Amino acid sequence: LPPDSASPSPDSAPVFRVQVAVHTPVHSGVGGLLTYTHTTALPPGTLVRVPLGNRELLGVVWDSPADAEPVPNAQLKPVRSVLDGLPPLDARWRRLVAFAAQYYQRSLGEIALTGLPPALKDMTAEQLARRLAPKSKKLSKKAQAALDAQAVADAAAPAPALPPTIALSAEQQGVCAQMDQHPGPFLLYGATGSGKTEVYMQRVQQALLAATDTGFPTQALVMVPEINLTPQLLERFTARFAPQFGPQAVVSMHSGMTNPQRLKSWLAAHTGQARVLLGTRMAVFASLPGLQVIVVDEEHDPSYKQQEGARYSARDLAVWRARSQGAQVILGSATPSLESWHASEPADSGGPGRYLRLHMPSRIGAAELPRVRLVDMRQQPRKAVFSPPLIAAITERVQRGEQALVLLNRRGFAPVLFCADCNWKSDCPHCSAHQVFHKGDRTLRCHHCGFTQRVPHACPECGNPDILPLGKGTEQLEEELERLLRNVQRPDGNPARVGRIDADTTRLKGALEQQLDQVHSGEIDVLVGTQMVAKGHDFRRITLVAAVQPDGALFSSDFRAPERLFCLLMQAAGRAGRDGSYVAAQDSRPEMWVQTQDPEHMVFQALRQHDYPRFAQRQLREREDAGMPPFAFQALVRADARTQEAAQDFLRAASDAARQGELPHLDDVFLYPPIPMAMQRVADVERAQMLIEATDRRALQRFLHAWQPWLHWVRGQPQHKSLVRWLVDVDPQSL
Ligand code: ADP
Ligand code: ZN
Ligand code: ZN
Repeated sequence: LPPDSASPSPDSAPVFRVQVAVHTPVHSGVGGLLTYTHTTALPPGTLVRVPLGNRELLGVVWDSPADAEPVPNAQLKPVRSVLDGLPPLDARWRRLVAFAAQYYQRSLGEIALTGLPPALKDMTAEQLARRLAPKSKKLSKKAQAALDAQAVADAAAPAPALPPTIALSAEQQGVCAQMDQHPGPFLLYGATGSGKTEVYMQRVQQALLAATDTGFPTQALVMVPEINLTPQLLERFTARFAPQFGPQAVVSMHSGMTNPQRLKSWLAAHTGQARVLLGTRMAVFASLPGLQVIVVDEEHDPSYKQQEGARYSARDLAVWRARSQGAQVILGSATPSLESWHASEPADSGGPGRYLRLHMPSRIGAAELPRVRLVDMRQQPRKAVFSPPLIAAITERVQRGEQALVLLNRRGFAPVLFCADCNWKSDCPHCSAHQVFHKGDRTLRCHHCGFTQRVPHACPECGNPDILPLGKGTEQLEEELERLLRNVQRPDGNPARVGRIDADTTRLKGALEQQLDQVHSGEIDVLVGTQMVAKGHDFRRITLVAAVQPDGALFSSDFRAPERLFCLLMQAAGRAGRDGSYVAAQDSRPEMWVQTQDPEHMVFQALRQHDYPRFAQRQLREREDAGMPPFAFQALVRADARTQEAAQDFLRAASDAARQGELPHLDDVFLYPPIPMAMQRVADVERAQMLIEATDRRALQRFLHAWQPWLHWVRGQPQHKSLVRWLVDVDPQSL
């Protein structure tokens, strides 16, 4: 081969054809590889910069049949530059990308670029080389081999003194022993505080110490929902692994990081410098050539499903990725998703037995599970937001120096302002939603499009000065609690203090940490918050948790609403009595209060018994009877347009095309008629959706794959010119 020269003369140098995955809206069809030329053959996985129109894009060289013959087509453009300081992305990473692209009906290029740190997009080969320096410029093969050997030697060398690790409990030991015996996937069903994180760390440790024959350092991927990726968790992992595997051994990856930070973590993972990647859903696509184990904590959390662009499920991809490359995968939760629960029903009792279910019922060092008290709101004074017995219970806690947490799922002061004279409501002019009244800054705000206005002094329709807030948000609850607890004193004689944590109070950077500190230090006695505070935080002195208006979720049209509510309430209950020694010292008993109009509802009855299995069994039976996931597989096609009619027209045309095109498996999939979305209008755009359902996942997949070009074709028709966008959502998480 000729030497790799920067500007080859077209006559002398043989030309190789390269297939490159790039991400452009124009080439977003499935497949979507573009062909370029280069003077040498480029290994698949190499990052390149290529021209497209008058732009230059980052792309990944993709696997293609041997294309070593001279290229006849003079139209093909050469690759501009090769980011050759970087080892190519390996075949396993490319397989993951190819699978995700196929499964979620996106182009290879889009998924590939989703998996790369954004900072790489604008980097030249020289800049990247500088980032990788000073340790290594472009290394010769020999130098690289030596370096690798050294890395192996390091890993194999007697480990320095281990950080003190806690002796595992009997339950933890039992679970770990099973994980030694079985390939997985595992569903670790363990109560909050049962020591799941300790189990993860034990498994990660084992993976990092494992010997391999590739010479590449072994690695672990630990995924958590965005809200759980706290500095404390990162510290916990770093404290465990840095002493043994080096100060750079644990890195994180999440959306709160700057692009340079993300690039740094990504490079560390790609080169093997990082051994543990702790990240949110985006981390599932990280390049981890030494990957041995994947943990998906809080696997039920809806935030694992990406809600824009490529709508992938990081949890499901984690399971696929682990299987495809022989890594172990552990899904952990106190309230598993019904999908995972079902998958872990043992085969010998008629279940699919795809996952091995492992149970850790006991909470370590925590008080007993809180007693659940259901308040029948039909028996309480009408219009009372806080029932008298709940207020009495909170008062008692505060007087004893304990803390209470009050949950509500709507921020703002009131969901809507209302004129009793003419029925005017503070509707958002751009959405099919009300503008929420925020009393603090006297604004009306749309939580969907962000449209904000000053509160009018009088009804804009009829001039009535008496416009009223309707319904309750967190802001109002805070105010009302302050009023109700006005004369309540803490043991130190100070008046009770009420605080609030929600998306409004935590908008500023660092605000959340500061407010959490106030709770920890005991400055706040009663904390009002949205589900943000129900998750993850370890409040030592909280012994009472109250859900004030949970019923709304039961009227939702989404069949997953009860599952979400149950899970939220279980999690919230887990906030009470986290610290058993505190509870014992106080001689207290943790409680979870639920105010409801329907105390007999199975969600609340199962909650009262802390009986997730019973809840799951009932829900799964209902879903099976109704033919819903996980007993059926779904996809949504969504269309957005200026008018609802135009949006639905597109969906109808798409549906007709599927029939006319006689697509494969047409008889195995059911195409529902288009309907407006529950949130029909957002930011002046009308939204419609069409549900596609099948009992066989593969039939649905093949159908969608064959349909994809038709959807593009329909979209190109002149009568659908006004369409704003369309998309396919495979395994949608909300309907
Ligand atoms: P989970 O992830 O299930 O919520 P954690 O792993 O965070 O539970 O454990 C809860 C608490 O118990 C933590 O403070 C942890 O340090 C502690 N813990 C976990 N395992 C043990 C153990 N074997 N011995 C003593 N403390 C433990
Ligand atoms: Zn009016
Ligand atoms: Zn709006």
